[in-house]
Amino acid sequence: MAFYSKEDLVVLLKEAGLRVTDHRLAILSSISRVRQPVTVYELVDTLRKKENIDQATIYRNLSSLHIAGLIRRLDFNHGHAHYELETGRVSHQLVCSNCETIEKIEGISIDDVIKKILKKSKKFKQTTTHSMEIYGLCKNCV
Ligand SMILES: [Zn+2]
Ligand SMILES: [Zn+2]
Repeated sequence: MAFYSKEDLVVLLKEAGLRVTDHRLAILSSISRVRQPVTVYELVDTLRKKENIDQATIYRNLSSLHIAGLIRRLDFNHGHAHYELETGRVSHQLVCSNCETIEKIEGISIDDVIKKILKKSKKFKQTTTHSMEIYGLCKNCV
């Protein structure tokens, strides 16, 4: 995972047309530091303790960062949100249905599968990116 400096995050916000605020920088910085999608609970917990931002402010800013396309919101069928920085990079992840274990698998192409899907599609001519979640149980939960 790339490391984002404060300057990088300022650029990201400006490019997305968002006002640069300390709250937004703190939230983006917190999300950019984790290796895998972070649950909204963990995020709120960290930000409240470290940055003293209240929950409503965090939720409001997460929403605007998401709408602006800076962060990706994932559900993973867990019934709560997880966030990660929107890098535009293709990702395939294995998700445990029982706990918060998530494993990103890189270096496997499913381009052929996507071509087949596109061939069958009546409404789409091209794809830009994709994300894929595969659900199961991690070794601790089996
Ligand atoms: Zn979860
Ligand atoms: Zn598990």
